[in-house]
Amino acid sequence: MPSTSGQLTDCVVLLGPELAPFRCSRFAWSGDTITAVDRVAPVSTLEDGALVVIPGLYNSHTHMGDSALPDGATGLTLEQGFFRPHGYKYRELAKLTRETHLPHLAAHLRYMARTGTVAHLDFREQGPYGAELLHAASAATGVESVILGQFNGVPFSEAELRANRPGHLLPAEHRAELEALLAVADGFSESTMNDLTDAAWVEIRALTAGKKKLRAIHCLENAGYRDLSLATTGRGDLIRAIELYDPDIIVHLTVATAAEIALLVRANKTGVLNPRANANLGLPLPPVADLLRAGANLLLGTDNGLLNSPSMLAELDFTYKVAKSQFADALAPDPTAILKMATSNIRPVLGGDHHGALEVGLPASFVVLDFTRGHLRHTRHLTASIVTRVTPDDVLATYRRGRALYRDEAFTVG
Ligand SMILES: [Zn+2]
Repeated sequence: MPSTSGQLTDCVVLLGPELAPFRCSRFAWSGDTITAVDRVAPVSTLEDGALVVIPGLYNSHTHMGDSALPDGATGLTLEQGFFRPHGYKYRELAKLTRETHLPHLAAHLRYMARTGTVAHLDFREQGPYGAELLHAASAATGVESVILGQFNGVPFSEAELRANRPGHLLPAEHRAELEALLAVADGFSESTMNDLTDAAWVEIRALTAGKKKLRAIHCLENAGYRDLSLATTGRGDLIRAIELYDPDIIVHLTVATAAEIALLVRANKTGVLNPRANANLGLPLPPVADLLRAGANLLLGTDNGLLNSPSMLAELDFTYKVAKSQFADALAPDPTAILKMATSNIRPVLGGDHHGALEVGLPASFVVLDFTRGHLRHTRHLTASIVTRVTPDDVLATYRRGRALYRDEAFTVG
């Protein structure tokens, strides 16, 4: 599909990595690049509505593979619903064929575009096959899938994991699977640090680093992650992740203590929070306020497709309110700090042409919001309204690198 060129006049644009709202006389793009942002003045309120342009959103933790099973794990625990080999999700995924699975993936990626998301980091099950399947959905929809694949089967027995024998590397068959996976995926992910031996983590770190691939892991989703790691190795799962595996992103941190938050920040690691998924599983809410106070770089994700709609608009609203409740004061957090978790905070993790920000010369990856509608046109705080009041229906268009992934019938560009 060819890229387009176009422009909007007399609009509001959230500019730069700080997402500063400016009234602009013109916002223009050509091909895949922003070519003009003609600033008039900073703006924080609207008197009579405007189109508002924000960076395309990043959903930094998904499992879209199980989007074929909306709300299928209702009534199940985390272990019953989501853990290999016999969890509901894995049993049901095994029943799908490529032909029956792919339409679900594409439908949910289109819903992402409909709700302002241009890219997602997916923790893809089913080994190399699973990665290839998501690639096909990404190509069909234009939503960028950054694929972090995991093993199809479990490489070690329970007894081997508990023994955690020094030098116990991946079995040859799984080493070969990892090589095949990294040939089609952007990186590697696993469920928990308790799923592999220490030696295998070091082996995977070396192999992925050599191929310049991303590494991701879930830590501290519940206390069981830490407890099992302590019982097996004498150390918690977060410190083992950082020291053995050196991940680019660490997902959940739901039950992180002050010491664990300090460790995350000292190690300069990015955390990905998923408060709606945690709440939906009856788990504690992540310590958003403590993580922000500590200066952690944070991203947001919607987690399993079967657990949540992949709408970052819903995640932003929920996270902001959780954080406000935890800060327990009128001023914190600034809603911009929450919006950054879906935009410019992606830069240190992905680099390249992933900015999550709008400026002349950057990729034309943006979302147009209709703030001319009655419930938005008189906002007294633009960023707070973006974070808490915008619904999917208020998204007029989502562009990634100049290509319209979604466009409302009523939306036209100059
Ligand atoms: Zn996950």
